Amino acid sequence: MQAFSFVLDVLMPPRCFLCGQLVTYKSGLCPDCFTQIRYIPAEASCPLCGRPYEVTTNAVCTQCLAHKPRYTSARAIMVYDDISKRLILPFKHADRTDMTPFLAQQLLTFGKEQIAKCDTVMAVPLHTSRLRQRKYNQALLLAQYVAKKTGKTLLPDALVRVRATKSQGHDSATQRKKNVQGAFAVKSRANLKGRRVLLIDDVRTTGATLDACATALRKAGVQEVHVLVLAGRYHMPV
Ligand SMILES: [Zn+2]
Ligand SMILES: [Zn+2]
Repeated sequence: MQAFSFVLDVLMPPRCFLCGQLVTYKSGLCPDCFTQIRYIPAEASCPLCGRPYEVTTNAVCTQCLAHKPRYTSARAIMVYDDISKRLILPFKHADRTDMTPFLAQQLLTFGKEQIAKCDTVMAVPLHTSRLRQRKYNQALLLAQYVAKKTGKTLLPDALVRVRATKSQGHDSATQRKKNVQGAFAVKSRANLKGRRVLLIDDVRTTGATLDACATALRKAGVQEVHVLVLAGRYHMPV
C-alpha cells in the first residue's frame, strides 16, 4: 500500500489545494496559502454562535442575546471569505472528496474543545434529491472522518431532511428561516435520548439550518447540540 502511494506521488505529486504549486506533503496548502486563512480563535468569539471578535472575549453577541439559538453552542473554524470559499466550494460541488482529510483535520485540530463536549457525531443531511445530484454529502464525509479519528459514535442517517429546500444563496435571514422550518426530522427508530451531539456542516450562513436541525434533535430528546463548521459567515453587526 505504501509502495502504491509512493508511485501515485511520483505520477501525481501533491499540489497545494489553492494555488496548485507542488507541496511536500500529501494533502494541504503551501505555507503562503495557509497563512491567508483567517482562523477564528475560540477565545475571541461568541460562545453561542461562534461569531469572531476583534478582541479576546467570550461575551455573548447581541444577535444571540436577541434570539437565543436552539443549539447549545457553535464554533466555526475559519471566516467564510474568498480564500475559504475556494477551499470549500470544490469540496462541496466538484467531487474534490480527496480534500476530506485536510478539511476534517482542521475540525479536529481547531475544534478540539467542541468535539470533547460530545459523545455522538452527526452531519447536517441533504435531501435525497440533492444527494442524488451531488452523489455525496460533504458534511457527512467530514463527520465520518472526525468520528473515525475520535472513536465517537457516528449516526449517519438518524437526522433526515424531509423537505427539499431551495438553494439559499441570496436569501435574507428571515427568508432562510422560513425556508428551513420543519425541513428536518429524526427517524423514529433512532434513540437519541440524553445524547450530546456534535453536529457538523461545511458552512454556517445565517444559522437557520443549524437551528432547524437542533430543534428536531432536541424534540427527539438530545441533551446538547454542539455545532462545528469549517467556515462561518457573520455579516450582521455585533
Ligand atoms: Zn498555495
Ligand atoms: Zn452569538
